[in-house]
Parts: sequence; C-alpha cells; structure tokens
Amino acid sequence: MKSIEHVPTICPYCGCGCGIYLVVKDGNVVGMEPWKDHPVCEGKNCQKGRNAHAFSYSEQRLQRPLIKQNGVFEEASWEHALGLIAEKLQGVDAEAVGFINSAKCTNEDLYVIQKFVRVVKKTNNMDNASRFCHSTTVPALISTVGSGVMTTSTTSIEQADCIFVVGTNLQETYPIIARRVIRAKRKGAKVIVVDPRRTITAKNLADLYLQVYPAADNALVNGMMRIIIDEGLEDKNFIDKKTSGFDDLKDYLTTLDLSEIERTTDISIDAIKETALTYAKAENACILYNAGIAQHGAGIENIRALADLALLTGNYGKPGTGVNPLRGHANGEGFGDMGPLPVFYPGFQKVNEETAKRFEDIWGVKGLPSTPGMTYMDMVENCKVLYIVGANPMLAAPDTNSVRKALQDKDFLVVQDIFMTETAKLADIVLPTATFMEKDGTITGVDRRVQRMNKAVEPAGDTRPDWVIFCELAKMMGYEEQFSFSSPAEIFEEIRTCVPQYKGITYERLRNPHGIQWPCPTEDHPGTEVMFVEKFPTADGLGHFQIADYKPPLELPDEEYPYVFTNGRVVFHFHTGTMTRRTKRLNDELPHGFAEISRADARELAIEEGDEIMLKSRRGEIKTFAKVTDDIRKGLIFMPWHFSECAPNVLTGPSAGPPSKMPEFKFCAVRIEKV
Ligand code: SF4
Repeated sequence: MKSIEHVPTICPYCGCGCGIYLVVKDGNVVGMEPWKDHPVCEGKNCQKGRNAHAFSYSEQRLQRPLIKQNGVFEEASWEHALGLIAEKLQGVDAEAVGFINSAKCTNEDLYVIQKFVRVVKKTNNMDNASRFCHSTTVPALISTVGSGVMTTSTTSIEQADCIFVVGTNLQETYPIIARRVIRAKRKGAKVIVVDPRRTITAKNLADLYLQVYPAADNALVNGMMRIIIDEGLEDKNFIDKKTSGFDDLKDYLTTLDLSEIERTTDISIDAIKETALTYAKAENACILYNAGIAQHGAGIENIRALADLALLTGNYGKPGTGVNPLRGHANGEGFGDMGPLPVFYPGFQKVNEETAKRFEDIWGVKGLPSTPGMTYMDMVENCKVLYIVGANPMLAAPDTNSVRKALQDKDFLVVQDIFMTETAKLADIVLPTATFMEKDGTITGVDRRVQRMNKAVEPAGDTRPDWVIFCELAKMMGYEEQFSFSSPAEIFEEIRTCVPQYKGITYERLRNPHGIQWPCPTEDHPGTEVMFVEKFPTADGLGHFQIADYKPPLELPDEEYPYVFTNGRVVFHFHTGTMTRRTKRLNDELPHGFAEISRADARELAIEEGDEIMLKSRRGEIKTFAKVTDDIRKGLIFMPWHFSECAPNVLTGPSAGPPSKMPEFKFCAVRIEKV
C-alpha cells in the first residue's frame, strides 16, 4: 500500500494567498488539509479553499486538443493543433493579433506568454481581466504615491486602529483578510464599512456603516477630507515633509458644499463627520478597497481621493496603514509584475524604446515592440486573430451580446483553458491545460507575497502547463534558443534578471513557508512588509495630492430604465464560475443566480421572493429569481456574476475611455419586469 503524502501549495482562487496541503494517495489528490503554520491563513480557509482540489477531477475537464471542423470539435494531436496555430500566427500581421491571458496562471506561465508575444509576434497587444479590476488603481495610485500595490501586509492589518472598508464585501470575497479585521476589532480598532448594500461585512464587522448612494464614494471621501481640514486634524508634519500639492487640494475642498455632498451620497453630514473624525483620529488607519469603487467610470477619481485621504492624515509607511487594493485572483499581483500588459514590460517597466532595447539585450533578439499595445476590449473588437488563455470574456467582459458577435467574427480564435467555457465554445482550436495541482510555479498574492505552488500529481489526460505550450509554439516558430526552458525554476531564474523587485528571491528561499514580499533586492534581504517607509517611489520621493472631483456615473437611471444595477461575488463562487460551478460542494450551496431587490421596490412591482423576473438594459436582458431583502437600497438591484445562464454583463455597458478604459461594471440603468 502506498503512503499518503501532504503537498504544500497555495489556494488557486483569491488574492489572499492562503496555504493548503493537498493530500495525495496513489497518484490522486483525495482531499486537502489546513496548513496551520501558514502566515496568511494559519490553518483557516474559506469554503473555496477547502474544496480547491475538486474541480481538477471534474468529468468536464478538457483532456486533449480540439479542432473545430464544420462547427464540431474533434480531438487532435498536440503536434497537429500547435502546427495549425503556428501557421495562423505566422500569417497574421503583428497589429492584427491579440493575446488575452489570466491571473489564474503562475508567474512562470505569464512570463513565458508575454515573452512569446513580444519576441515571436513583436507586439504589445496583450491584456487580461485585471483590466476590469484595477486598471483604475494603477494610474490613480501611480499619480499620487508612485505605485499601485498594497502598501501594508495582510498580517499587519491587525495593527490598525481604524479600518476603512469601501467597495468590497470583504467577508465573502476575502474571508481570510476579514479574519485580520476581526482580530484588529477585538483589539479595539474601529471598522467603517461603506457599501450601498448592507452586506454580511457591514453586519458583522462595521462599527460605522454608511449605506452610500451607488458610485458616490468619491464625493463622500472629499466630504470627509473637508471636515478633517475644518477640524484641524490633518497631519501637518507628514504633509510638510512627505507630500506636495496640499494647498491646491485644500483650496478645492473649501469650495465644496457639504449639503450637496449630503444629497449626492445620501449620507447625513453628521454621519460623514463621525466617519471623518474616526478615521483621522486613529494612530494607524488602513483603507481596504476593491472593485466596488474601482469598476466605475470615475474609478480613478475614487481611488485618488482615497490616496489623498491617507496622505492628509499621514497614513502611509507604517504597519496597518495605507491604501490597499485587494486583487481578485490568486496571482493578481504577479500578473502585473510579469508584464503581460500593453503598457508594461516585466517589472512595470514602461513600454518605450529604452525598455525595448534593454529587453532585446536580455533576450538576445532584435525588433521588440516599443509602442503600447491594445487593451482587452480593443483586442476583442479589432483583432482578426485572438489567443485567449484562461480568460472567459463571454462572462467577464461588458456587453456580452457585442462580445459574442466580435468573437464569432474572428478569422481565428484559440482558447487555452481547463474547461469548455462559454468563450471556448466559440473557438477554432481549444487547448487543454494543467491545473494548479499539476504543475510547479510561483504566484504573488495581494500583499506582494511571492509563494511556491507545488506539483502534487501528473497533468490529467493529455493536458500541459501553459508555459510548456507556449515554449513548444515558440520553438515551432523559430525561437528555440529563447524558449529552451526545461522547468519553472529555470524560468524564475530569468525573471529575477529582469524584474528588479524579485532580484533577491530564489526558488530555494521560497521553501520558507512565509513566502517573500517584494521588493527584495538581494538574496540576504528579508523582503518588504510595509512600503513607502522613508519616501514614496515618485520622482521627487513625495506623495502628490491630486484633486479628485466627483463625476456622476456614465449612464444614469431615467423613466425608461429607472433602477440602478450592480453586481459582485458570493463566498461559494469565484468570478465566472468556471472552477467553482464544477465543484459539487460549492455548486450545491448556491446552484443558481438571483437578483436582490429591496422590499419597497418589490412591493411596488408586486414581486415576491423567488419570483422569476426579467432585467432589461439598453444592451440586453436576462431572467433570474428575485431575492427580496431589507439589506439593499431602494432603487438598487444586485446580482452575483458567476452564473452564465443569467450573466450580468449582458446588461452592463459603456467604458470610461482612456486612460483606464474601465467599463462601468458596477452601475448601469435597468428596468424590471415580472415574468
Ligand atoms: Fe482561497 Fe481566498 Fe478562500 Fe483563502 S480566502 S482559502 S485564498 S479563496
């Protein structure tokens, strides 16, 4: 009888980066066990983490390459499928091809993918669904504090005495970070939750809960700053020594009418004042935010206002402070670090001639692209040939009906995934990939913590890791030398040479179960738990106040579409549901979508709990079931976005345009009809 083995690895779902042990028996993962001394989770995991091994054994796993012939998929050999892809890629101009990838991939996968796109196809046309999460975060935080990363660590959240939670239902979406907030609260921290829905986070964690009008967060934060200055509670010493632009911000804030802010936010001046004073009087105040404020046309303004608030009160550079974007995917931070993006080479090195030259020397090639590539939706709309890895734009991108048409119109579409997703069904070729349990690699979680994922079992059927597939393709297309990697460890050694933040991190050092938080400049550096201690990573080392004027949403409710529609996640499912809906335990908990509607709206529309209803926007319509509740504002409808049969993005629409090109996922106008 073979013995049971416990393989330590990292949960493949959210950016918390919890450790888990995979229990391996006879070459199969038969369960998971908690990793008690893991620094992030301390042996606790949410329902997704506790069932993380199950989707790999779904009967629906893709096992072999598939080629569509006369509208029907037929199994093919890897050689044949990759040969066809190589031929198509060779025959298309660089500006007509695009690559969409995923933060579900490891750092090594993503590094190889971006290198392939740049070296082999000489284009920067590549992007990922993080465009839809934090494309507002990066410009907002770079313009204020020089970097778009989480500045504290998940563990040091416990050291905050005030935690401001905005635009995230923390207890459902980052349960293990919510644990740290609960611990801080037990030590006396005050927790402020701002959300148009009275979520479980608001109910369980909040000392102060503000049921703000949707998309009015920026106005609320501006009002708080005005009050902090009126009360003389700004941190004058910090402002003098570490910031610029304060006088302009102060002049702007003094022009604001607090009564108008009260109307815009639907929060009383007294409540705004109590919130402002609670935040400003804390020794260490920490802001946690996510898509609820980032996925707006005015997402950049929302986040700039948060950075201003932290600068105003000196809340940077200490444990339990800062403005902390929570990344959705397990490798949400690593995704940015590896540079499979239209505007950054690895290590957030800006796309320009100087950077392209530097990478030409590192990679030993000529002609690397030096101008920005297309972003996600531009590629969906404009590229003739599209190669999608691990992403599902049919659920994740706005205005699903337009996306379907654009994908159907492609000359050639390749999808590389573990399941036949809604997007894969539209492909010409589908390539099956290995899951997190079937490959080695690293991922970088929300607090810049680089950790090892360890292979526990062999890849299912004829599946392969993403990096292996791209190396094979590159070799077929004449780039043997640049893609001769034999292992993820070898890829990581190359990553260290061109991503300065990772220079001191090695595979050997990552045996340490704590991982290492970048920046880590040398092999004897312990990593960096808290950022911006001495100065900000801006040209002058200062934090820059930016005026963030309130901008209303792009599409407001009117007579025809009188309700505001928004969406989010629930604890049992993850993003487009590709993995969690194929995990029986999770799908049994919540097998279908629903729409939350306020009791007052339901009464007016004669809708009762469980009734089938139709939601219609200017772009499409979906049917779902009503969930009548007192926890949502009147006039607001909420749906989870994990369910393909009632996908909220059929309804969502316009993009904010440059520089973030963030679609307004969290706010559009709808009407409701009882079916
Ligand atoms: Fe996995 Fe996130 Fe749950 Fe932790 S909190 S177990 S990383 S899904």
